[in-house]
Amino acid sequence: MHTIEHIYIDGAFVAPHGTERFELFNPATEAVIGTVRLADADDARRAIAAAKRAFETFRTAGVEERIALLQRMHDAVLAREDDLFAAIREEYGAPVSRGRWMARHASSVFADAIETLRTFEFERRMGTATVVMQPAGVAGLITPWNSNAGFICGKLATAIAAGCTAVIKPSEMSALQTKIVTEALHEAGAPAGVFNIVTGRGDVVGAEMVASPDIAKISFTGSTAVGKGILRDGAATLKRVTLELGGKSPSVILDDADFEKVVPLVIGAGFMNSGQACIAGTRILVPRSRLAEFEALAASAVEAVVAGDPADSATEIGPMVSAKQWQRVQGYIRKGIEEGARLLAGGEGRPAGHTRGWLVRPTLFTDVRNDMTIAREEIFGPVLSVIAYDDEEEAIAIANDTSYGLQAYVFSGDLERARRVATRIDAGRVLINTLAHEPKAPFGGFKQSGIGREYGQFGLEAYLEPKAYLGL
Ligand code: NAD
Repeated sequence: MHTIEHIYIDGAFVAPHGTERFELFNPATEAVIGTVRLADADDARRAIAAAKRAFETFRTAGVEERIALLQRMHDAVLAREDDLFAAIREEYGAPVSRGRWMARHASSVFADAIETLRTFEFERRMGTATVVMQPAGVAGLITPWNSNAGFICGKLATAIAAGCTAVIKPSEMSALQTKIVTEALHEAGAPAGVFNIVTGRGDVVGAEMVASPDIAKISFTGSTAVGKGILRDGAATLKRVTLELGGKSPSVILDDADFEKVVPLVIGAGFMNSGQACIAGTRILVPRSRLAEFEALAASAVEAVVAGDPADSATEIGPMVSAKQWQRVQGYIRKGIEEGARLLAGGEGRPAGHTRGWLVRPTLFTDVRNDMTIAREEIFGPVLSVIAYDDEEEAIAIANDTSYGLQAYVFSGDLERARRVATRIDAGRVLINTLAHEPKAPFGGFKQSGIGREYGQFGLEAYLEPKAYLGL
């Protein structure tokens, strides 16, 4: 059993004032694996005060000093990669290859930030002015459970690259990962107060951060509903806000695509991170002229996907993070059937042979209309919808007929044509015939998928304020 009793403020592990305890579960076994004592609003205020004090010195740290700190953080997190992998499996249920990727990602984001920092122009001449990009101040970083360590490290790396100090509010459901990351970052020897980590409830610690006049900027990754609340509540202090929210990404398959090649990519995009991914390609748009062909290939591909014990290296889809998420996903599968969609693979309940663990059957619906609930709402589980279209115009219209706009996928045998279609899709990223990731490229959404961008130069700018000097 894990008993997590400490938060991290001003360079030290301290007991929270808060007394509430939160239970941690292993989603593969449903067993309680520990408890975490949660920070309260008073703890949040202490962390904010520490970050504010530290900012007065850290704001003058030069680029080389920040690079050195980022390098130490990278090395320290990398050194804990195996522990992180074990924690990600235990409290999140990520299958082996995904868990390994997530554990490595937590350190690689520091290397990415260093690369960005080396090439970023902090000072430019504009007319008669000298314009410098200065750190915005204390950054409040709020992360979700579906890649907690990666988001903590990614946001912190960018904040430090900018010269900001940080208060981090990780998901309380991912406290094991947070503990390991915090220990590693402590080893890296940042000046006290440069980063502070306070695990607590969103509506307590998170809300305190959003309300605080001493936090200049909030970077939030999570649900669209909570993101809207942060934008609203942050308005009282005119917070700079970056929001990375939900998605309902289209996978647009054009009629000239090679289906043998495309089907594994489309299924991979849909079931990414066991379906618990904001960028999952959950609406599969298929030309009606080739619908039967696609359905046959995709149904057998989905039937072959192994959902099971994350410790088994054959497993491709692990459990949902919690009983609540499992119930939610089951509810969407029922809703799909009620609204007239037809199951090609999967359905309600657990995969055959499993009686425990929050496992969902890899599920593929067809005969889905874009106005059905399963095509409109983010399910956050391995449930995909096939939507038929008649021509390219209709495909584009359906792709854009969503409140979201995070990522899109286009599959075609003709790159020019794919690009022409991609130009008209409202999404922050469009992946053409690939599932690749590029950490130097901006990441973020159109419409209700968010505001602003993370990663690379755009991500760094979001932590900076331009200042113009005249007379210099
Ligand atoms: P969530 O919105 O419930 O919680 C996210 C974080 O916000 C948690 O740390 C939570 O404690 C905190 N929070 C909750 N209420 C708050 C409040 N009132 N004020 C401040 N903070 C508060 O999301 P979740 O269930 O943890 O994560 C899943 C969601 O995250 C999905 O909708 C998914 O699409 C989204 N997501 C988006 C991206 C992206 O980059 N766009 C990436 C991953 C996940």
